Amino acid sequence: MASGAGAGSLFGTVDESAAAEGPFAEVAVQKPLRCEFTYRVPAEFVEALKPGMRVAVPFGRKREVGVVVALTDRCDLPASKTKAIAAVLDDEPVVDDDLLELTRWMAGYYACSWGEALGAVLPAALKREKGTRKRLVIAPVAGVGQEELAAVEEAHPKQHRLLRTLLEIGEATELRDLLRKLNLSDAPAKTLVKRGWATIERVEVEADALLSGDATDRVRPEQLSSQQADAVGAIAGALDDGEYRTFLLQGVTGSGKTEVYLRAIEHALATGRGAIVLVPEIALTPQTVGWFRSRFGEVAVLHSRMTDAQRYTMWQRLRRGEAKVVVGARSAIFAPVQDLGVIVVDEEHEPSFKQGNAPRYHARDVAVVRAHRAKAVCVLGSATPSLESWRNAKAGRYERLMLSERVHGGRMPAIEIIDMRDELPEQKGPKLFSRRLSIYLRQTLERGEQSILFLNRRGFAPVLWCPACGETVRCKQCDVAMTFHRRHGKLICHSCCEEITPPKSCPSCTAPGVRFLGLGSERIEDALSEALPGARIARMDSDTMLRREDYERTLDAFGKGELDVLVGTQMIAKGLDFPRVTLVGIVSADSGLHLPDFRASERTFQLLAQVAGRAGRGELEGRIVIQTTTPDHDAIKRAAEHDYEGFAALEDELREDLGYPPHGRLIRAVLEDTDESKVRDASRALADLLIRDVAPKGVMVLGPAPAPLAMLRGRHRHHILLKAPPNSAGLAKARDLLIGFAEEFARPRTTIDVDPVGLL
Ligand code: ADP
Ligand code: ZN
Repeated sequence: MASGAGAGSLFGTVDESAAAEGPFAEVAVQKPLRCEFTYRVPAEFVEALKPGMRVAVPFGRKREVGVVVALTDRCDLPASKTKAIAAVLDDEPVVDDDLLELTRWMAGYYACSWGEALGAVLPAALKREKGTRKRLVIAPVAGVGQEELAAVEEAHPKQHRLLRTLLEIGEATELRDLLRKLNLSDAPAKTLVKRGWATIERVEVEADALLSGDATDRVRPEQLSSQQADAVGAIAGALDDGEYRTFLLQGVTGSGKTEVYLRAIEHALATGRGAIVLVPEIALTPQTVGWFRSRFGEVAVLHSRMTDAQRYTMWQRLRRGEAKVVVGARSAIFAPVQDLGVIVVDEEHEPSFKQGNAPRYHARDVAVVRAHRAKAVCVLGSATPSLESWRNAKAGRYERLMLSERVHGGRMPAIEIIDMRDELPEQKGPKLFSRRLSIYLRQTLERGEQSILFLNRRGFAPVLWCPACGETVRCKQCDVAMTFHRRHGKLICHSCCEEITPPKSCPSCTAPGVRFLGLGSERIEDALSEALPGARIARMDSDTMLRREDYERTLDAFGKGELDVLVGTQMIAKGLDFPRVTLVGIVSADSGLHLPDFRASERTFQLLAQVAGRAGRGELEGRIVIQTTTPDHDAIKRAAEHDYEGFAALEDELREDLGYPPHGRLIRAVLEDTDESKVRDASRALADLLIRDVAPKGVMVLGPAPAPLAMLRGRHRHHILLKAPPNSAGLAKARDLLIGFAEEFARPRTTIDVDPVGLL
């Protein structure tokens, strides 16, 4: 533990001569300082204080809440330099030894501080001395409308953006969430209140459908399929052995993976052990939770939209053993489940299991580590496992369980690839639907069945382009093309949410006649209502689904047959199970394929397989249409053949040649600042340091180079990518160098991402 160094750097240099009198506590605080701090334990606390308890400590000029990670009799600091713990906040440890050890491992592995790792574990209510924060809701004042909107449109675009969204929602909504979504500070909100156009109120706990929801019945089938039975048998066997094991449950969509999870948990509960189930945030619906609740009764739920108080209540019920099963999104991996027996990670390949800010952990990987330490069983489930998990299974580190057939015997739907280069161009605008897709859409509607249309891009057109000079209209803050949203009549930056009114002539060369290029979900919806008059159509993307309830309501209506076609972005790719959907159209399979990321193919394959899995889930046969301009691309060809193995083997070979994961490990450093020359110089200096010290140890230093998103919210960004064989000692050294660099220089800001999942 870095007690001496840590305390030294904060309180001055170490004087060896007059050491202070113990006992002492090592305290981790939630700051990006990668060390713990040593405090004297006043006599009155000595008896009661244990590792894992929270304390209030003087820190700089402030008072902070920290977690005691160790008690010791030694401290190298002179008495005058040590400060005393101000208060002990708990009667018993809130973090048990297992979670203390797990977070210590995370701090080392993910290059964050122990305090930051503990910050991911503790519910917010325990991170402040004053306890839970109430939530604030904002609502538009009745009668406020177009006139007020017009009044702020030109001069105050931020107020305009906020007011417009409030009017769209039309009722009280959570303030913090909304501001985060629109990338706004609270200043415009306060101004709207001052103008008398909106109100902000404190509210007590809001009802949460996930917490009180019905127990959706998922009938416990009498008979498992033989593949399910084998899988359950293997997992139960491992549970009986009481040893750590990780299984990769690879099952096609509709093969009954959920039933395997449920049985595994039943088995764990029968022997008095608990369970954690992780699902992607978007899949955490009342329906999903209901399945677990109907089987197990008391089920705790943890997700980011709960209030501090709700999370805290759940946390305590788990800690006291009142609930033994928790279903949650990413951070539920830290739930204080007692006697942990099994951890399930559903859709383990989902990039959303990786956290985007410190600690930048991957919940799937933490799940494996936590299971290992707890001698528990980890079950990773997916129809399209990540290459990392696939390789781990090949190498024998995970045991693979296959569910290759759909439970109801339904065949996998036929997939047709349509080469859009063969389609006749439209009079004006891009070609949206091929002839075949148009025909199928019409036929499906006539038969009274349902369709899903997928396009992974929101808005109307992603580019406003000048034919005269070839320039596109770009965000001044972010240097990305701005997307046209027709409903709002605005160009919107998808990185920072800034909006502008589309110019009539080119901002670069002033030529008139700028044109909208490309397609987005809004345009698809538009074209669809023209192509299918009378059809009931809904669009699901983050523009139309402003609140969680909108999402659930739309799915509900679709499930009841009140809608004919659902158009959407990846929001509709996940876990939807509607037996009357017989047609799925992927309007463009190419949109994610050419991103500058070595996982672009893998993501495309996974997305196509997932979207395709939405059709033919019932008795009726399904049909999938994939429109593309690169029909020979492996990701597309193999997805059409339902050939995951073939794709994985090819992709794995490519990665091996290039030394990318799973055959190598990556660490990425991103340097950001408003001053570009600072960023350039610092990243050059950092790269030189790395080339000198770790390149000889087998670490490849790529860059520095401008990041693909070279400017974001007004900050210039450069990055360095480190690549090394999986067990390279050089990477550990590189991580230490990066940490040292990040801590020494406040500007430019340096973030370290270990095992990055995005490289933009
Ligand atoms: P996956 O998650 O693998 O896509 P699901 O778990 O959603 O598949 O299962 C698909 C459907 O099959 C669900 O409606 C589920 O209730 C049903 N099911 C699962 N196992 C069985 C079984 N052994 N017998 C009958 N129906 C089953
Ligand atoms: Zn922007």
